[in-house]
Amino acid sequence: MSTLTERRAADTAAAHLLKHLEAHGLTVEGRDTGSTCYALVVRLADGSEIWASGEDGISHHAADELTVWWVRHYRTPDADTWRSLFLSGNNDFPADTADTAAAVAFYAHYLNGTPQACADCHGDGCEHCDQEGTYLPPFPGRNTTH
Ligand SMILES: [Zn+2]
Repeated sequence: MSTLTERRAADTAAAHLLKHLEAHGLTVEGRDTGSTCYALVVRLADGSEIWASGEDGISHHAADELTVWWVRHYRTPDADTWRSLFLSGNNDFPADTADTAAAVAFYAHYLNGTPQACADCHGDGCEHCDQEGTYLPPFPGRNTTH
């Protein structure tokens, strides 16, 4: 498998997203995540990670082969503990990629800061908060979380 530097130089979907993520000031690590999967990973202060890849887990293929970006949060680098944060649109690769980088930056900043109180339970715990581990606000960009 090639290195992140080699992938950065190539015209891959990951190279495009990496450029946007770095423009948001994020430190990004490329990681082979098993089989043919590849994700761009942002490590958070608490040891958890945000992963971004194509919906199928792939991001190092040609940009025109990627349909939907998928962003998830791993409380530990363990494939069983992720939760979805964001799915991009799928009609406009440049715009979808910019939106995805903005979503990663939004959640990295949020999760590295002080989580907001949930409007429903005010931090006392509710089904949503218990399931997510913490309150996650909806991404204020043009696409929706899933
Ligand atoms: Zn709650």
